[in-house]
Amino acid sequence: MPPRPTAPVAAHPTVERIFICDLPEHIGKRIHLHGWFTGLRRARTLRFLQLRDRSGTVQAVYRGPEGLEDVDALTPESAVRVTGTVREPAEARFGTVEIEVESIEVLAFAEAPSPSDRQPEPGARPRHRDLDLRRPERFLVFEVQTTLEAAMRQFALGRDFVELHSPKITSGGSESGATVFELPYFGESACLVQSAQFYMQLAMAAGFDRVFEIGPVFRNEPGVTPRHATEFTIAHFEMSWIESHEDLMALEEELLRYALSVVADLHGAAIERHFGVAVEVPPTPIPRISLSEAPELTGEGVEGTVGESGGRLLHRAEQALSKYAQERYGHSFLFLTGYPADSRPFYTMREAGPRDAGLPVSSRSFDLLWRGIELTSGGQREHRHDRLADQMSEAGLEEDVRERYLEPYFLEMFRHGCPPHGGFGIGLNRLLMALLGQPSIRETSFVFRGPGVFVP
Ligand code: ATP
Repeated sequence: MPPRPTAPVAAHPTVERIFICDLPEHIGKRIHLHGWFTGLRRARTLRFLQLRDRSGTVQAVYRGPEGLEDVDALTPESAVRVTGTVREPAEARFGTVEIEVESIEVLAFAEAPSPSDRQPEPGARPRHRDLDLRRPERFLVFEVQTTLEAAMRQFALGRDFVELHSPKITSGGSESGATVFELPYFGESACLVQSAQFYMQLAMAAGFDRVFEIGPVFRNEPGVTPRHATEFTIAHFEMSWIESHEDLMALEEELLRYALSVVADLHGAAIERHFGVAVEVPPTPIPRISLSEAPELTGEGVEGTVGESGGRLLHRAEQALSKYAQERYGHSFLFLTGYPADSRPFYTMREAGPRDAGLPVSSRSFDLLWRGIELTSGGQREHRHDRLADQMSEAGLEEDVRERYLEPYFLEMFRHGCPPHGGFGIGLNRLLMALLGQPSIRETSFVFRGPGVFVP
């Protein structure tokens, strides 16, 4: 468990709250433990109870003969408060501490059999997500998420970034090609945001210089893959006065190094124990590969690499490229650069040279892959009004979206001296997938949202 503030948390005003992992500090003392009863071993007048809280498990010894029937009537997963004395167990196989029980108070009986003991039905896990999340390795995912977010925030604050909370309801359409959820809004039609980017750019235009936001976004993506959800969390960073997307990649390298080293320190051993993966802190620089080299490296040809949808990298190509980076550079992270401008959103800055020579134009953008999973898209944004206006016209955007939203609210900002800037978004649930070796984004979402999944 990560370090906690030293002041104890009172479970009720007179009871000091102690976690199981801290019991060794209380040997010889009388304590109250709050947790779940998970099982029982019987001897003649003794009962050995297994107790669990979010920090671990411990054995408690109840001495009869009084009250044995009450102890025997306990159902697994009942919430209990056990009062007793902490001591070293008679035998080392029972751990480093045990509790000599004085009294047991049942705070809530669990129905027996528990849904988790019954034959699993299809769909049983999401239905009983509360029980699913009682498993220590499931709780660990969210402890790690908390640490990651806190470390990212600490890193950003240390570099003078300002934290923002942008609106999640917007009138805009899908300016980056991702599909949106529409919702009725006082007689008009609004959407849920699919990226905070517009607002982060607004902050750049306003002179905020460096901003970030860690928050939800919504994508109406009907395609079900283990990496896609319809609601997920993005950590978005946007920065002004950059020279190119190289500045952003350097920032992201530092950010990930810092955040992952904090995770390794606090949770490395638990992650290895529960998930069998070592936390990797990426050495820098992370290798860069240009997309123009990708077809050759994946051995799949252009169609097999970027698919038909105009330059969007196929997942199997992402995996092949990650494998290549591991073999060639010994690195599980990889920046992909050199995306053709027409495969990126219209606001992406284009490289200058080849355009005039009539060659395909490359963009100042990048993706970051880790262990075959795309974590990030980012890039320098076009900040010069006239060029942005040209790029917007060339992009063939829906007229309605352009006229109602993009021209008056987005393009307009670039008439007022907007500094050069750019940014990137890290998909937090995907970062956790790669970090913890999880096969699906369902495992790294507190409560998953996907097509047809909107309960509980
Ligand atoms: P993909 O090609 O994998 O669908 P994308 O290129 O559409 O992703 P971006 O729009 O660049 O993704 O979003 C930034 C980041 O947000 C991605 O790199 C990824 O980490 C995360 N992300 C994107 N779509 C999803 C989704 N549907 N579910 C979970 N995370 C996502």
